[in-house]
Amino acid sequence: MSVLITREMLAGYLDDALGESDIAQIEQELRKSEPLRQQLQKLMQERDRGEHSVGAIWRRQRLSCLPREQLGSFLLGVLDDDVQDYVQFHLKTIGCAYCLANLADMQTQQQDADGQVKKRRKKYYQSSAGLLQSPPKKK
Ligand SMILES: [Zn+2]
Repeated sequence: MSVLITREMLAGYLDDALGESDIAQIEQELRKSEPLRQQLQKLMQERDRGEHSVGAIWRRQRLSCLPREQLGSFLLGVLDDDVQDYVQFHLKTIGCAYCLANLADMQTQQQDADGQVKKRRKKYYQSSAGLLQSPPKKK
């Protein structure tokens, strides 16, 4: 006898949110039923495209993306608490790829500015050390 496996159950199966008996039941049905396997596959593909996640909808619409100045202030930690919370939420919970990329970019620039003097010094040191250590060339 075959049990009706709903879309929600499949979703729960993918989320690892079901009990062992439900999982066993679904796996049993999956083995028996080609349409069900196709349904699961479709669901997984949809998830890959992220069409059903809240984050995807936000990303798609960019309803609430942060201007660069705000991300900069966030990096400096000078935002008001509620704005800071919102930025956290947008970046961490929503995981907005667009803003994360922006943020990473700004962080790199900041580090570059900080590290520039140090790097220059290191480079100079390395090149002179290199000169001193290189063995005499034989002809
Ligand atoms: Zn964003």
